[in-house]
Amino acid sequence: MQFLSSHWLAVVVVMLVLVAGVAAVKLLRQRDRIVRQAAELSRDVEALNDRLWALADSEEHYRSLIEAQGDLIVRRDGARIVYANGAYAALLGIDEADIVGAVAQPRRVACRPALALEGGARVFDECLATPDGERWISWVETVVPVALGATVLQRVGRDITARIAGEQELVEARARAESANEAKSRFLATVSHEFRTPLNGILGMADLLGDTGLEPEQETYVRALRISGEALLGLIDDILDFAKVEAGKLELASESFDIGLLLETVSELMAPRAQAKGIELAAYLAPDLPTHLVGDADRLRQILLNLVGNAIKFTEAGGVGIRIGNEDGMIAITVADTGPGIPEARRQAIFEEFEQIDNSAARRHEGTGLGLAIVRRLVLLMGGSVGVESGENGGSLFHVRLPLAPSGEAVRPAVPDWRSKRVLIVSGAPFGAGFLCETIAATGGSATLAADAEAAFARLQDDGPYDAALIDQMVGREVAMNLATAARMAGVAECLIMLSPLERRQFGSPRDAGFTGFLVKPVRARSLYARLSPRPAPLPGTLAIEPDAGPSSPEPRQRIRVLVAEDNEINALLVTRTLERFGCIPVWARDGRKALEAIEAGLNGTAPSFDLVLLDIRMPELDGLAVARAVRTLERGRPEQARLPLVAVSANAAEADKAAALAAGMDDCLAKPLDRAALQRWLDHVSRTEALVRSA
Ligand code: ADP
Repeated sequence: MQFLSSHWLAVVVVMLVLVAGVAAVKLLRQRDRIVRQAAELSRDVEALNDRLWALADSEEHYRSLIEAQGDLIVRRDGARIVYANGAYAALLGIDEADIVGAVAQPRRVACRPALALEGGARVFDECLATPDGERWISWVETVVPVALGATVLQRVGRDITARIAGEQELVEARARAESANEAKSRFLATVSHEFRTPLNGILGMADLLGDTGLEPEQETYVRALRISGEALLGLIDDILDFAKVEAGKLELASESFDIGLLLETVSELMAPRAQAKGIELAAYLAPDLPTHLVGDADRLRQILLNLVGNAIKFTEAGGVGIRIGNEDGMIAITVADTGPGIPEARRQAIFEEFEQIDNSAARRHEGTGLGLAIVRRLVLLMGGSVGVESGENGGSLFHVRLPLAPSGEAVRPAVPDWRSKRVLIVSGAPFGAGFLCETIAATGGSATLAADAEAAFARLQDDGPYDAALIDQMVGREVAMNLATAARMAGVAECLIMLSPLERRQFGSPRDAGFTGFLVKPVRARSLYARLSPRPAPLPGTLAIEPDAGPSSPEPRQRIRVLVAEDNEINALLVTRTLERFGCIPVWARDGRKALEAIEAGLNGTAPSFDLVLLDIRMPELDGLAVARAVRTLERGRPEQARLPLVAVSANAAEADKAAALAAGMDDCLAKPLDRAALQRWLDHVSRTEALVRSA
């Protein structure tokens, strides 16, 4: 029994030892695991710490980025600020530390309409009162989600005060430019008015003078006066047109015009300038050109006047030659001179606005630098080209090519057949002499050029007989007369002296000086052909009648009484004389008030009434528009009386003036210088009305 119990005891002890061993092993394992877990935890904590640092670093990075950008950021939950950066706190004038929880709003001074963006954002600019004064902020407003499904309103703003100020300056600058442009238009209108008024007098007086039965020579001068005056009028219109060209608003006419007449007009207008400088002005129209072309004659004249005007301006000796010919179906115009020429490097630039060869203040010369710019624009508008190169004589040679077609009324100019004719030309003129040779060559005739008297004497002596000799007065009067004698002795049948209009007046009788006749420079092909072609003898009993001997006498209109309200004495004289010639009874009133008094007296029956009233728009005391309004008011009180025709006469023919005249109750607006045909239409109208009233 005892043995048994000790045996069991031993078993129990062994069991206990075993259990204790197993437990110890377990404990050891558990400890290892815990040690491992502790190590892992410590690593995790370290990693978390690192991430926290990184987050703090990144937050600081973005915060400083936002602050550095200067953008304003605010988040509000309702009115309460849940977040705002330093810039926004400064905008409110609150310390950054106290900003969260604040409900303050900056005071709004102005706001522009908001714009909704895709995604629900709103953009708007507002002007806020801040501690630093008024600032314009451009905001982007969005709703952003925060924790637990809640949202807050976020605004991110940028200070755009400088940009707004810039915009404002731009607006003001544009307003200033617009008002300056308006002032320019007003100035142009005023200047054109001031020019037109005296021109009106000159042109009208030339008209009246033309009707006084002049000698043929005097008629030529009056015609020249009229042509020059009209060209000047055209120039004034051109100045006005420049503004239109500038604005790209110029519309080109497309009408048939006489190219020869146009060239003559340009030469006649420019000849006095060339004469005053003692240089030549020669013009040549190729005989194979059609007489009439389709295009804008006024603009073409403007182009030529600019080019020729420049050529004369810059040429001190020698001359200027204008040539119009045909090249590959295009009209080819050249204006050449013997002036200083244009350096190659400046040949492009001078066609730009306000450019001269030498722009330095000291070297700038008279002129705006606009002429060639206008030329270029007009030529381009016509579909042509313009350029400049060195002329043969070292001067400049401007060339213009234009696609102008012949018009329906074009005829081939009559060129005589001079195949058997030999002509000696004695002239040292740089362009005219060559042009004369071309004019003769076109007839099939032969032209020999002698540049001076010595060469001419030699030719007369050595060559066989010439049919004609053309001697330029440039060689001197005595020499020319000696040459004429030599020519006569050499059997030359026609010996013509070529004179400028001024020389023509001083030369005396060409026949007495030994010539058979004269030609006026620049010599026109037409005149040369007519002068050297055999003339048919006039039929016995017929009288030579000048084709433009003046208008036939107009029908008398004794009954028409016309009131002329005009403050300019010369213009008044002009209109009253013209009306008298039309058989009317003109009455002059020198200002608007006197005109109104005269009309009122007529309406009241205390003085004879008027059938027509011509009202100058600009008059002292009462202007034409005010007179018209007053007359219409008076008439409203007298419905039984016929409406008095009121016609405005304005030097400012702009549409605005016309509209103002019609709005004031006038029936028409005529431009100064008063067009006779337009006046006659009104007189016819009044006559017809009178006749109707009488027959009623
Ligand atoms: P403006 O003559 O009013 O100065 P333009 O535009 O007509 O202006 O001409 C521009 C410049 O080109 C002139 O100032 C002048 O320097 C030069 N120029 C034009 N035509 C000639 C010419 N025929 N000969 C020499 N220089 C010329």
